[in-house]
Amino acid sequence: MMTGKEYIESLRELKPDVHFMGERITNVVDEPMFQPHINTAAMTYELANDPRYEEVMTATSHLTGEKINRFTHIHQSTDDLVKKVRMMRLLGQRTGTCFQRCVGLDALNAIYATSYDIDQKKGTEYHERFKNFLKHVQEKDLMSAGAMTDPRGDRSLRPNQQKNPNIYLRIHERNDEGIIVNGAKAHITGVINSHEIIVLPTRAMGEEDKDYALSFAVPVDTKGIKFVFARQTNDTRRLQSVLDAGNPKYAIVGGEAIIIFKDVFIPWQRVFMAGEYEFTGQFVETFAGHHRANYGGCKVGLADVVTGGAQWVADAHGVAGASHIIDKLTEMIAMAETCWSCSLACSYEGHKTPSGSYNINPMLANVTKLNITRMVYEWMRLAHDIAGGKIITLPAERDFNDPEVGETLAEYFEGKEGVDVKDILKMLRLVENMSVGAGLPEAMHGAGSPAAQKIMIARRSGIEKKREFAEIISGIRKDESFEKIVGKSEEEYWQETKEKIKSKRAIT
Ligand code: SF4
Ligand code: FE
Repeated sequence: MMTGKEYIESLRELKPDVHFMGERITNVVDEPMFQPHINTAAMTYELANDPRYEEVMTATSHLTGEKINRFTHIHQSTDDLVKKVRMMRLLGQRTGTCFQRCVGLDALNAIYATSYDIDQKKGTEYHERFKNFLKHVQEKDLMSAGAMTDPRGDRSLRPNQQKNPNIYLRIHERNDEGIIVNGAKAHITGVINSHEIIVLPTRAMGEEDKDYALSFAVPVDTKGIKFVFARQTNDTRRLQSVLDAGNPKYAIVGGEAIIIFKDVFIPWQRVFMAGEYEFTGQFVETFAGHHRANYGGCKVGLADVVTGGAQWVADAHGVAGASHIIDKLTEMIAMAETCWSCSLACSYEGHKTPSGSYNINPMLANVTKLNITRMVYEWMRLAHDIAGGKIITLPAERDFNDPEVGETLAEYFEGKEGVDVKDILKMLRLVENMSVGAGLPEAMHGAGSPAAQKIMIARRSGIEKKREFAEIISGIRKDESFEKIVGKSEEEYWQETKEKIKSKRAIT
């Protein structure tokens, strides 16, 4: 397993073609705008080497029996699923942001289960190929970016109906050695500081879309791949001031980029699906289920930080004991723990797949993520409420250093006696960074927007069964258990009851 430092050094060996703000970035590792993202992902390596976290951060490979970083593990039990979300809460608490490596982990698990099913039905050899790739990932402790979302153009049209045939990533050509692909994948978390890209289909597809039914793995610095790194809220503050950045050591959010593929060659041994459109729906559901389960882990870790930050600010301002502050903090904690309960529940309720790996309970995982899309906004609203207006009106660090106004300015930002005003500024900036920034829409759209969760919840709602419960209790349908309890048919029971009370009042 690599340490955090070794991971960072390993990125120096890669030469991805990264663009940002109109420039080609040739040195990703030393670019100040990328360093916080890299430091954050490095925590997924560093904590795996810390004996205190060994149990949650590491696992035993079912392929080699070696100790591996849990971010490269295929879940072998519900205990593994539970440890995964514990790992995510821990990393959220230690970084205060998205640590990026989970998408690749979920992609590995989705391909493991789905490639097995494809082979069983189609006689293909995707699963064996994938296991070889997985061994490579585990042995080298690689970070993989999961690349699922295509740009999608006109959302009302299927991939093959689009004006631009590359608006969904597609197989352009097949030959004896492999496939050549064209297109793009959008909003890809952590990809510029990953070693590998793992591509998955973005939606369920039909036969006409089979060139788009595609899964493969490719190193980030493969010829024909370009990345354009996205802007993030207040990103250039990082170039101006440590204090103004809010969470200067770690990322603002997941460091998303768009990946452009132009005539990229993928050898067959790295292709895990090429045309088996019937399995695209299962692919998407398996990946999305795993990823949605995570959000009650990582975002709750962030809630722990922001709740601590809000309480710190209230304390520094002398209002920590006020009943309305305690009430708001308690609300924040209760909501976060509700989401945590959802993540734990969908993990404990997991099941074994035919491949032998474990999957979460999909209904509960979708409920987890749907709750997150609402409750993150709610607990951040309370954090704003507690922190007060300062979190949006704080002057720049440069103003506090200005010889003309700095000293006087600082006096007006003081809190209760004994608290360093610089610490108040640091904590307000952290709360601002976490509650105003890109983390909010990420909680909404990461792992799919709320509508996607509702589709899955509706599909798995078992509404027929719920109707049956109502029909039995209302008397529309036979209630066998009731008849056993009373030892006769319902008709007989009501007849007798009528007789018994005839003298008092009539039953119709
Ligand atoms: Fe991991 Fe959460 Fe970031 Fe997704 S949003 S990659 S689950 S930390
Ligand atoms: Fe995410």
